[in-house]
Order: sequence, then structure tokens, then C-alpha cells
Amino acid sequence: GAVLVTGGTGFIGQVLCQELIKAGYSVDVLSRQPSEAVRALCGRVTPIRELSTINGSRGYDIVVNLAGEGIAEKRWSETRKQALRDSRIALTRELVTALLSCDRLPAVMVSGSAVGFYGDQGGRPVTESSPPKDEFSHRLCADWEKAAAPLADKGVRVCYSRTGVVAGRDGGFLERMVLPFRLGLGGRIGSGVQYMPWIHRRDVVRAILWMVENGDAQGAYNVVSPHPATNREFTRTLARVLGRPAILPVPAVALKVALGEMSRLLLTGQRALPERLQAGGFSFSYPDLEPALREALDRPA
Ligand code: NDP
Repeated sequence: GAVLVTGGTGFIGQVLCQELIKAGYSVDVLSRQPSEAVRALCGRVTPIRELSTINGSRGYDIVVNLAGEGIAEKRWSETRKQALRDSRIALTRELVTALLSCDRLPAVMVSGSAVGFYGDQGGRPVTESSPPKDEFSHRLCADWEKAAAPLADKGVRVCYSRTGVVAGRDGGFLERMVLPFRLGLGGRIGSGVQYMPWIHRRDVVRAILWMVENGDAQGAYNVVSPHPATNREFTRTLARVLGRPAILPVPAVALKVALGEMSRLLLTGQRALPERLQAGGFSFSYPDLEPALREALDRPA
């Protein structure tokens, strides 16, 4: 089948594209840097520079929509928030319009979202049916999901991957967390009781492929490991895996000053559970934190 991936040059997208190619799909990648897309994926994908290229074309069998400006890259000024929204919501709307103009509609689209959909949930377990808290991350994810909905109205099987914090090699949040630990400056963040709904990148990619290939899958899925850890547990495990101490807590107030509203990414969280993936029979390669971190950091036990 023919697959279109947006965000295919990214931390998740690159590994996803490699797996799709291995599975025999032909993969097009929407990218602002077409030559980079081809280089990153060893010449095995066709880059698409503009969505207008897709208008009125033959279309795709499968679409995976992951593009978006990095959530944790810059302080959330009003301009930055607009860029976070436009690079997801406006892009998804344009993508849907382009797909609707094609000769055929895709059978399935897996569209991005995040556990931020639920907002700050404290310590209570969060499933796909939990009521969200209204805050910036909720509106961002809810509108991102809604932008894909017109395809569902046309009978396309649309799945939303409400992804947790992704651990994998070379990039992602772990790369940034590791440096202070290597310097002996690691520690829990704030009180440490907030949950981090982590997942290994291999399982994110496997979950997306599962949604693509499982004809019964549709709607929202929490793409998180079945064992969310509190920040304190996460910190202790990371310290053990790195063989470094974790003694210097990072005060909440310092983070609020340094990061502004973006500090919510670190100071709040969700005890999110993959209820629908598990009910659908999906099994995780990395259900437990320590083996996941050991693999992601290349630190075998
Ligand atoms: P990356 O930041 O690594 O990659 C995102 C891709 O989006 C980039 O490769 C880029 O492609 C494209 N992109 C960035 N900005 C724009 C823009 N302004 N317009 C169009 N395209 C843009 O993300 P990840 O792989 O880590 O994540 C994929 C998606 O999943 C993201 O939307 C992210 O928010 C979400 N997610 C990720 C989590 C994580 O922990 N990694 C957790 C939860 C959700 P190019 O430069 O080729 O155009």
C-alpha cells in the first residue's frame, strides 16, 4: 500500500518510516526539507514538499500525521503557542482537504495527539474516557484531533494516538534529562509525585502499525506503557541506569521562573493507562521502565 507520513523526519517518524519500509509499504514523507527527509531515510522515501502536490492526486491507502513544532523547544509565548497550534491544527486541516480531493480516500489515518489532551490529572488513573481538564495542552490536542474528524465522517478509520513521553535513542526528552545526571546534578522535579506517562519509542511505532493494520481500531488510544511512573520513581530509575546519584531536587519555583507556563510539562502529568490498546490485545515490548531506559540509553544490565 501507499503511505503518507507527515513528521516522517522526526524522532518518532524516522523509526516509523523505517518499519513501514521493512513491512513493504511505499512511503511518501511530507517535509519542509525534502533532501533531509531523503537523507535521513537513506533514499527510501519520496519527499513531498507541499500539500498542494497531493490535491487531486491518486491518493493514499494509509496516512500517519505526526508533524508539529517541538512542544518543549521554546517558552510558550503567545506567538509560540500559535506556532504549536498552526503546525498541527492548520496543517491537519489542509491535509484533510487535500486527501478529500484525491481519487480515493485512505482506509485509515493515524493522527497525532498527546496525553496532554487530559491536562493535569494529579494521581488518578486516566483512561481514554476520562474527562479532560481545560488548559492549553488540552485545547491544542482536542483541536488537533478534531481537525482530522472530517475524514471519519467520510468513513475513513481515524485513530488518534494520545502519546506519552517517548523514550528512545538519539533525541527526545531523555537526551535532555541525561546531561544533569551525568554531571551528578540530577534529581526529582518539584515534589516528584506527578506522573510521567512514559513509553518506549519502539512501542509507539508498534502501536501505530497496530492501529494501521487492525481493521477494528478507531478513535482515541492512550499510547503509553501500562506502568506510568511518578517523577520520583522515574528519577530513581534513571539514576540507577546511569549509575549516577539523584540527590538534587529541582525546585518547582525555579522551573516556573525558567520555563513559564511550559513548566507544566514537567510539574504536572497524567497517570495515563493504555486501556484501549490492552483491551484490543496489543502487547508491549517495553512495559517496564528500567529495561526501557536501559535500551534507550544503551546501558545493558
Ligand atoms: P519531532 O519534533 O522529532 O518531529 C516533528 C516533525 O514535524 C519534524 O520532523 C518536522 O518535519 C515537522 N514539523 C515541525 N515543525 C513544523 C511546521 N512548522 N510545519 C510543518 N511541519 C513541521 O517530533 P516527534 O517525532 O518527537 O513527535 C511526533 C509528534 O508526536 C509531534 O507532533 C509531537 O508533538 C507528538 N508527541 C511526541 C512526544 C514525544 O515525547 N516525542 C510525546 C507526545 C506527542 P520537517 O522538518 O521534515 O518538515
